Amino acid sequence: MEIFLTEYAGVCVGVKRAIKMAHRTAEESSGPIFVLHEIVHNTHVVNDLANRGVHSVDDVSEVKGGTLIISAHGVSPSVIHEAKSRNLDVVDTTCPLVSKIHRIVKALADKNYTILLLGEKSHDEVMGVQGHAEDHIHIFHRKEEIPGLPMTDGPVALVSQTTQSIKYFDEILELLLKRYPQLEVHNTICDATEKRQTSALAIAGNMDVMITVGSMSSANSRRLQEVAGGLCKASYLVDQASEVQDGWFSGGERVGVTAGASTPDYLIEDVIQKLKEISSSKGYSPSVIRNESAEEEFIEVH
Ligand code: SF4
Repeated sequence: MEIFLTEYAGVCVGVKRAIKMAHRTAEESSGPIFVLHEIVHNTHVVNDLANRGVHSVDDVSEVKGGTLIISAHGVSPSVIHEAKSRNLDVVDTTCPLVSKIHRIVKALADKNYTILLLGEKSHDEVMGVQGHAEDHIHIFHRKEEIPGLPMTDGPVALVSQTTQSIKYFDEILELLLKRYPQLEVHNTICDATEKRQTSALAIAGNMDVMITVGSMSSANSRRLQEVAGGLCKASYLVDQASEVQDGWFSGGERVGVTAGASTPDYLIEDVIQKLKEISSSKGYSPSVIRNESAEEEFIEVH
């Protein structure tokens, strides 16, 4: 078996930053510590944080005192307001690239734009963005929803959830331009998402099997698996090595491995190890080819 790790895979700079801030808070704060929803969408990271005494809550109203950590996905200003009114210490780990979208939609709303937000209505990031321009934002995700978006001759802008597929964004844009010739476009898909999708696409067409490591709750991991599945029919999403099934392989395949932006490195290494074991057990000699990438950093955060 030849195992190819994509150039960009696993935790992005925004997730690293959020986890580091949460760990530091767990070490330094004396009172109870909570995180709103999940710090990042990965079950292993969430469980590790719970073991450090940081537990998830679904609503600020559940927190009677102590510290509240805001996740990397960001929140509506009303959440911060409520936390402050409850005298909670707030540690805000919102990714700077999500904060940038908050600033964009706020500025557009101030200029009375109709804002079309391509994203999943129930995703934490999308709900947070909506809270920054409440009455101006119209959330949609499927092409079939476009005819239901409000018609207007006034200014209209498109923004995106950071983890959408680049290809899908372009398809949506083409359709929207027919309906709104005046459309102002803000492609807010983040650099980390784009790099992970592009590097998965770069190898998926030459692979017999593609494995994406990430949790089902992770939008960017689900998207990666879909993107890889466009070029490689046997494309699977696994949360951890134990979910990799022996029956997916005969042992001599070319297998591509990628991972969502919220997946810690050790989970990727566990999956690679499991693939090597499967290959060896079927009488093959596995090899691992790694495309090393440069260290990522935030770009263009104003
Ligand atoms: S995926 Fe993008 S927006 Fe989300 S935390 Fe990572 S860098 Fe930030």
